Amino acid sequence: MILEGKVALVTGSTSGIGLAIARALAAEGAAVMLNGFGDAGEIERLCEELGALHDSADLSDPAAIEAMIARCSAELGPPDILVNNAGIQHVSPVESFPPGKWDAIIAINLSAAFHTTRLALPAMRDKGWGRIINTASAHSLVASPNKSAYVAAKHGIAGFTKTVALEAARDGVTVNCISPGYVWTSLVENQIPDTMKARNLTREQVMNDVLLAAQPTKRFVSPEEVAALALFLCREEAASITGANLSMDGGWTAQ
Ligand code: NAD
Repeated sequence: MILEGKVALVTGSTSGIGLAIARALAAEGAAVMLNGFGDAGEIERLCEELGALHDSADLSDPAAIEAMIARCSAELGPPDILVNNAGIQHVSPVESFPPGKWDAIIAINLSAAFHTTRLALPAMRDKGWGRIINTASAHSLVASPNKSAYVAAKHGIAGFTKTVALEAARDGVTVNCISPGYVWTSLVENQIPDTMKARNLTREQVMNDVLLAAQPTKRFVSPEEVAALALFLCREEAASITGANLSMDGGWTAQ
């Protein structure tokens, strides 16, 4: 097991991509701290399955992030692997985009990664080894209408990734982002009703003509595919991959 003795903190890991990444890291022996919302019984079951701890920090709250990193450090050890994955979406034209939703998306999808990184990086530097993996998106490279906050946050995380990669380049710490196209998770499922309303389309039309319209493979990426790439980034063979924005988007951004 390649991650024996490593501690991994995966934000937004109670479902979707984050959960798949947490499972992949735990399967290779990492001690995992889960984070995210959900049904208490289901989260307890996940903790048992992965031998993981769960912290319920709301990542829009910097004080809660600070407490989560402190708890991880005290109970498991400082994170060797930090996966900034938590994210939310809201779909609306910019002129009617609720300011509260804008603030929440920037806080959770972008600023939270700043806070976890600034708090976790010093211990990684001390050990001379670390992996920071940010879940960005094809929307870190290209835009879609009605997703102004999400696209802004994802472009932001891509720039943040490059900056920290340069700052940590000589310290054994790599910093990368993974940019999936559409992955079939609750985040995607939940935006279907709003998109149906905004564009006056059926569910099938939204899935095939909107979501997969730009994805040449015409299939959703799986959370397990994203997790396999995250796991590769944790390997020693990935030590020279840093500051990269790795697309996994079925050819979307090749167009
Ligand atoms: P998801 O809804 O299944 O998972 C989101 C996770 O974030 C959940 O665990 C949720 O509880 C957690 N979360 C939400 N708000 C939080 C908060 N305030 N504090 C702490 N945790 C919070 O969605 P997903 O598709 O797995 O999304 C994971 C990441 O992947 C996001 O950053 C998303 O932008 C990105 N992404 C998703 C897709 C896709 O098509 N699904 C594509 C590209 C990028």
